[in-house]
Amino acid sequence: ARTPLIAGNWKMNFDHLQAIAFVQKLAWSLRDARHDFDDVEVAVFPPFTDLRSVQTLVQADKLELKYGGQDVSTHVSGAFTGEISATFLKKLDAEYVIVGHSERRYRHVESDETIAAKAKAARDGGIVPLICVGETAKDLERHEPSAVPANQLRGALIDFKPGDEFVVAYEPVWAIGAGSPATPEQAQNVASVLREVVRQAVGDETAAKTRILYGGSVKSDNIVGFMKCPDVDGVLVGGASLDVDEFSAIARYK
Ligand code: 13P
Repeated sequence: ARTPLIAGNWKMNFDHLQAIAFVQKLAWSLRDARHDFDDVEVAVFPPFTDLRSVQTLVQADKLELKYGGQDVSTHVSGAFTGEISATFLKKLDAEYVIVGHSERRYRHVESDETIAAKAKAARDGGIVPLICVGETAKDLERHEPSAVPANQLRGALIDFKPGDEFVVAYEPVWAIGAGSPATPEQAQNVASVLREVVRQAVGDETAAKTRILYGGSVKSDNIVGFMKCPDVDGVLVGGASLDVDEFSAIARYK
């Protein structure tokens, strides 16, 4: 069975002091609720400048919370001004890194090739890539709902092989920050196609272990529908992950 993953993508929110306050409150909230992290994994994705503070707090207080970066360089080191390498994230004990978020695909014009290289760089650096895919409203006018996300995922997994660990997040661009999510049925339909793409790329055994998340306007009052989908193994939350009570309620959806 796949352990559900509840992931909070903070995007460009919270400086390191706000991050410390947030993580403390989240940890208290989940502790009060006796949250079982083996049962439902919880991860936050703060800005790079917060990660050292989050690491310090998580390790000092022995929190079971996981964390990761929001982006990673395709390179290991060198003359790449502004970039952050997977080896730096690994040094901070980051578990995951988001690659291919639609905000990076479209606002920072990242290609499928770049995203494939980032996913590979993460894997090679010992970080689990959380690969985001999703179609825009425009894509939907011309293609089947799963066509664009499936192509994006095929591209991202080009260098992956059986046994590699990665997470997939299906985030329809039209549902991000929109206030209205996809329906669970829509999420399941695309997630099942994505699992088939994973199967073709890395084989049955790895595909059966790979977690596929849904993202886009997830809240505590709609998460249950997604978690009932057989191919949806968690959620990637944006806006609602910035409110401690709300994110804690999402993690405690069961
Ligand atoms: P919202 O939850 O704000 O729609 O954002 C989703 C997202 O982009 C997470 O990566």
